[in-house]
Amino acid sequence: ELANRMSEKVSDVVKALMTNGIMATQNQTIDADTAELIIDEFGHNVVRVSDADVEDVIKVEEDKPQDLKPRPPVITIMGHVDHGKTSLLDAIRSAKVTEGEAGGITQHIGAYQVATEGGAVLTFLDTPGHAAFTSMRSRGAQVTDIVVLVVAADDAVMPQTVEAINHAKAAGVPMIVAINKIDKPAANPDKVRTDLLQHEVIVEKMSGDVQDVEVSAVSGQGLDNLLEAIALQAEILELKANPDRAAQGAVIEAQLDVGRGPVATVLVENGTLKQGNIFVVGEQWGKVRALINSKGERVKEAGPSVPVEVLGLNGTPEAGDVLNVTETEAQAREIAEYRANAAKEKRAAAGAAVTLDQLMANAKASESVSELPIVVKADVQGSAEAIVQAMEKIGNDEVRVRVLHSGVGAITESDIGLAEASGAPVIGFNVRANASARASANQKGVEIRYYSIIYDLVDDVKAAASGLLSAEV
Ligand code: GDP
Repeated sequence: ELANRMSEKVSDVVKALMTNGIMATQNQTIDADTAELIIDEFGHNVVRVSDADVEDVIKVEEDKPQDLKPRPPVITIMGHVDHGKTSLLDAIRSAKVTEGEAGGITQHIGAYQVATEGGAVLTFLDTPGHAAFTSMRSRGAQVTDIVVLVVAADDAVMPQTVEAINHAKAAGVPMIVAINKIDKPAANPDKVRTDLLQHEVIVEKMSGDVQDVEVSAVSGQGLDNLLEAIALQAEILELKANPDRAAQGAVIEAQLDVGRGPVATVLVENGTLKQGNIFVVGEQWGKVRALINSKGERVKEAGPSVPVEVLGLNGTPEAGDVLNVTETEAQAREIAEYRANAAKEKRAAAGAAVTLDQLMANAKASESVSELPIVVKADVQGSAEAIVQAMEKIGNDEVRVRVLHSGVGAITESDIGLAEASGAPVIGFNVRANASARASANQKGVEIRYYSIIYDLVDDVKAAASGLLSAEV
């Protein structure tokens, strides 16, 4: 590759490497410094591609207000297991998408669009739960505009309901509460409403400003009300995008299809993605060979908030990867290669975990009021509450500890995901991380700290906070 770019013979480059003491073969990867030395020796100019260069190519000018048009909201459904997330997604889809379509064949591509009675278009992400939401967010793609929190009326608020609330809050995404299973004899929607109060979710019926809608995914009751509530929330948000520019989007899901090659479902965030566009997506690049919408139809283009399957990739990207249309194939390829190399180097330098001190430094750099986000897991509810209270007392006008989530039980992968997305450490009080959480923390570089004495924990956090304060003076 190096020889190629310099228009020199491969054998000459290998020879030059050998004279420098590097016994390289033709396809061996050499580090940047060595490459620079060799390029110098051949009398060529070195141009190092940097993060800044990459950003430059895919940087787009900010849209002028007059170019912005309303776009549909993107909705994620979250809630406790078995409260009806999947049923609700299916009910909405079958009630709306297949209307009037022969056979009612729907295609699962990871997201779908429906139109409400009032004429609003809504985009639903088809992977319910906060795991997908958080992993996307930790990769830099926050595509969700509205979270629908599903709570079963016969079960009320459960641990994962609380997790979902905290994930939505950490991401700053507004919520709508869908009180599901209203058809059941044991349904007690008011218990859901009062339970939610304890988690600072005050629904409209309790004089708050979070919309609550009673629904049944089984009977279909209340579905239209829910869709209208979402449309109303979307109106308040005034979501806009510019359809008349090169597309930017996020990968919702991707896989290697035996017949079609790598396929990615991309949610267009801004601009319009068109057949024939050249793009870079994460560490991959490609040229749009075909676009397929959630009804399984081939389309020529996809505008803001539209999910489409994209064919024509040279490799399989990951969920959460960002897609940018580029002008030339060379640009797309170069950025993809650069990112792949950077990722490789990063993996090699693994072990660079987020530490409490580092976090304080980051927090300091970001805002005038620094927030130290943490995730707390404890053995019993009493300890969890005591820790949250103690943490919230630490701080002043400049530094504040923000407990993103606190719960009872072992540290799980979901905790690690939330911590990673917000750059927080996870505190385990008399609890340990399970094996998958440990592996995930290692891989993502999330720090887990164990404590058995609240005082020790408070001390550590205080020390980090005061270190930050003195550094600011
Ligand atoms: P998820 O784990 O949140 O995705 O929940 P599911 O959608 O898988 O639903 C769990 C169970 O609750 C299934 O047996 C559903 O049939 C049932 N269920 C979901 N919604 C309703 C509802 O509105 N009414 C009744 N009676 N059952 C429901």
